[in-house]
Amino acid sequence: MPIRPNPVVLDLEAYPLGEHTIPGVARPIVLASNECAVRPSGRALAAYRAEARNLTRYPDRLVAPVTAALARRHGIDGSRIVLANGSEELIALLCRTFAGPGTEVLLGRHGYLFFDHAARAAGARPVRAPMPGLAFDVDALLAHAGPRTRLVFVANPNNPTGSVLSAAEVVRLREGLPGDALLVLDAAYAEYVTAAGYDPGTRLAGTREDVVMLRTFSKVYGLAGARLGWAYGSAAVTSALQRMRNPSGASAPALAAGLAAIDDAAHVARVCAVNARRRAWFARRLAALGLEPYPTEGNFVLIRFPAGHDAASAHAFLKERGILVRPMAGYGLADCLRITIGTGAEMRAVTAALALFLGRND
Ligand code: PMP
Repeated sequence: MPIRPNPVVLDLEAYPLGEHTIPGVARPIVLASNECAVRPSGRALAAYRAEARNLTRYPDRLVAPVTAALARRHGIDGSRIVLANGSEELIALLCRTFAGPGTEVLLGRHGYLFFDHAARAAGARPVRAPMPGLAFDVDALLAHAGPRTRLVFVANPNNPTGSVLSAAEVVRLREGLPGDALLVLDAAYAEYVTAAGYDPGTRLAGTREDVVMLRTFSKVYGLAGARLGWAYGSAAVTSALQRMRNPSGASAPALAAGLAAIDDAAHVARVCAVNARRRAWFARRLAALGLEPYPTEGNFVLIRFPAGHDAASAHAFLKERGILVRPMAGYGLADCLRITIGTGAEMRAVTAALALFLGRND
């Protein structure tokens, strides 16, 4: 008998990550994975390096200090925090724990693609609600929920569109969903939001059994390579996750770096200010070039290309000039590209290259 994987694997492709390399280019400009444009806090880097002394030891001794620091920082109950190797791991864990064969996982048509992948990997059926105007639409989500819905994933802000759902709309969504469907608010980009009326979900996840919030150190903290994320929710949800999770969880250097990063609030504030400034500058430049940048609350911009200027050709053109951005065909947005907010020099370089592509003067 041949070795055969679990049947769900046959329909699954490896998750397509953003590109980081171009053959023959020593230092490409990488704007394809929504990584932070700023180095992590110096305190986090020092803690990461210092942890090298303890690498013979498993990391669980660092879990209590990190959950206590997160609890203090966010004013929440630390016993209801679950730490993991990035929020990706928590998304997969949520699907394994709450969904499975015969169930449905509700997503947005232009939502984060890993939700779809994780649902299918768990044997569940992803159901994709339309997103008119490329933002979550509560009525459309509610119309697609049903008795088999076990999980509802909303990234807020949404990747790749950059849109946010207001706190009031999130409450309306929760009120309208079936009581046995767990609402997952993935607030990976929460810190970058400048719009009024936004809430990452801390209060709902703290008060309702049927809401869980995901956060990460990969974005504003600049620790994507370290891998550290966390979930916050009810005792019922988080104790189920604790029972299902990989025993040793996040690595010790990641936990040590995260612990130091949590306390460096000034660093986070600086990163957010820089991001907001460059994001506004870039959107203005894009509009001046005749492109259509969607309003964004994240550290990235989704750009629609006008008729006659194909996004796939723009992607290839930028790559030939050493610049990597994210193609969007997999998100049903073949006429768009998503560009991460990088350093000032990187944003000037990508703007100049786009102007050249469009045959305009930058
Ligand atoms: N959620 C969203 C909405 C994301 O965009 C990403 C990463 N691009 C993740 C989760 C995964 O983050 P992490 O690095 O914490 O696994």
